[in-house]
Amino acid sequence: MSTKTRIAFTGRVILPEKILEQGAVECEGGRIVRVAKGRASKLANVVIDAGDGFLSPGFVDIHVHGAGGADYMDGTPAAVRQANHAHLRRGTTSLFPTTTTGSPEEISRMIAACSEVAKKWKPGDGAQIAGVHLYGPYFAAGKVGCHSVDGRREPTPNEYDRYFSSGIVRIATCAAELPGAVEFYRAARRRRCLITCGHSDASWPEMAQAYDAGMRHVDHFWCAMSSVASVRARLGTPMRGSMEQFVLAHDEMSTEVIADGMHLAPELLTFAWKMKGPNRLCLVTDANRALGMPPGRYRFGPSDTGSWFESDGNVGFVPGSGLASSVVALDSMVRNMKRDTPAPLEQVIRMASLTPAERAGVARSVGSLEVGKRADVLILDANLHVKRVFVRGFSVF
Ligand SMILES: [Zn+2]
Ligand SMILES: [Zn+2]
Repeated sequence: MSTKTRIAFTGRVILPEKILEQGAVECEGGRIVRVAKGRASKLANVVIDAGDGFLSPGFVDIHVHGAGGADYMDGTPAAVRQANHAHLRRGTTSLFPTTTTGSPEEISRMIAACSEVAKKWKPGDGAQIAGVHLYGPYFAAGKVGCHSVDGRREPTPNEYDRYFSSGIVRIATCAAELPGAVEFYRAARRRRCLITCGHSDASWPEMAQAYDAGMRHVDHFWCAMSSVASVRARLGTPMRGSMEQFVLAHDEMSTEVIADGMHLAPELLTFAWKMKGPNRLCLVTDANRALGMPPGRYRFGPSDTGSWFESDGNVGFVPGSGLASSVVALDSMVRNMKRDTPAPLEQVIRMASLTPAERAGVARSVGSLEVGKRADVLILDANLHVKRVFVRGFSVF
């Protein structure tokens, strides 16, 4: 499609605050140039009608490890594109490939592969990389979850300065109780990253110190994080606040839920939405390489050193141990949130698009159907299944 072409999408338009029951979204040169009630303008050369379906912004995933058989930690551009393809066809147009625990070489390779794919991106390459989420390796020893424990360690400037100097790291995770965590957060703040605490058994005072250093987000709420009981087991009495209370008590703190229906029951999804609201709660997939693949045994993290887990097609798990992240994409999370909570549709979509974009600092260009932003548009049917995907105005699925 030439850049002169003006495409008009018509249908029920999902905006951040409301739904336009009959509206038009018009795009030119890869950008949104008009959003209005009613029909397409006369300037449109092509009209694509969603019928009784919805026009939604493309989804934004800030916590995602892989899909389609590939983990970003496989560390090759081919693996990165393979995972990006599997997410794009399910409606995720921008994502932040997420590191696991692993050696410094493995993490550097992953960052280099993502940088290369991001730099040379074309519409045929799958979801766009909006940045890398430096997630592993700075986890607390007792909270590694399904990650390989050998690949976890404490943060040292020598190591993370290398990652930050790539310029592509936009989200940075570290367990708040680790020695060196505050220096890590400060370095991440200088790089204007979204700073997050995850895989952590942090107490309230440790969270307060992290907050002062710039930490504003907690990874997958209720998974691999502290509770009042776990902090009591670590530090004794008096019982102290944990990550959970800290996030709920601070308006500036955001968090995320894995809404695959397997990790969290409906009451917890509803509780998180009610307590944090749609501007501070993100839907994430945390998906691993088994997304879009048959049930079986897979590695979480690098293809040669990652730890083993199983997928039954609904979720990843380590037999006898626990869950090992999700195997479904953001479209499933959106349908689950709509079905399992009272959140209105525009808020559910916001939590899968604008809110993660805002938190990660990319909302100027993506995350909502607003004039000036990239024409990343989904056509959803009335049951919220993804029918078509457009990235920068190109039909890609
Ligand atoms: Zn995790
Ligand atoms: Zn994860």
